[in-house]
Amino acid sequence: MNIILLGAPGAGKGTQASKISDGFSLPHISTGDIFRENIKNRTPIGMLAKSYTDQGLLVPDEVTCQIVEERLGREDCKNGYMLDGFPRTIAQAEALDKITKVDLVINIDVDFSLLLDRLCGRRVCKDCGESYHITKLNGETKCARCSGELYQRKDDNPETVQSRLDVYKAQTAPLIEYYGKKGIVFNVEGNAAPEAVYAAISAKLNALK
Ligand code: ADP
Ligand code: ZN
Repeated sequence: MNIILLGAPGAGKGTQASKISDGFSLPHISTGDIFRENIKNRTPIGMLAKSYTDQGLLVPDEVTCQIVEERLGREDCKNGYMLDGFPRTIAQAEALDKITKVDLVINIDVDFSLLLDRLCGRRVCKDCGESYHITKLNGETKCARCSGELYQRKDDNPETVQSRLDVYKAQTAPLIEYYGKKGIVFNVEGNAAPEAVYAAISAKLNALK
């Protein structure tokens, strides 16, 4: 099954993606993770991406689409995949339609009023990518899953978050209608705890199996 996870920054795409990837044995492809890895390793793609991600802007479609096309061509995607953070623009969705068939779009819907706090209070494990919120960490600085160091993403500050949310509204939200017209959108309410959100998603995926 080929799945797309859609939702605003902070909607919980990454958290749900790792659960789905474990539960349904699908490779988790996150363009945000791919860019962060490239930035860390100072590759040419990383240097280019950094100038956009630091401002909360989208990396140009051309670059992003090329990365995704290369990734989807690998062996582990032959029996399905899950995209997290791609597509983010109509042009990206059209490019994706040219290379693959999307079976399901899971749209995680969260009240916008929650997102600023979720993102600015987020701490991420540098090793496994798990997310935490400072209010639940009680001063803990290591990941409960793998003991990796927790850090705050450079783009998780109020100013950059605001621009990411603006970009989402203008460029990514229209994808709900784009895929809605194809009849493949599954809306899930994302305000609840991660376990409850995952319960709804896994029920849907099991029904489609
Ligand atoms: P978010 O928490 O905002 O969903 P991601 O980790 O998915 O964050 O992405 C971080 C940044 O990487 C984005 O703000 C953007 O600059 C860049 N990025 C990720 N995916 C894409 C994409 N599909 N197209 C363009 N830029 C992207
Ligand atoms: Zn970890």
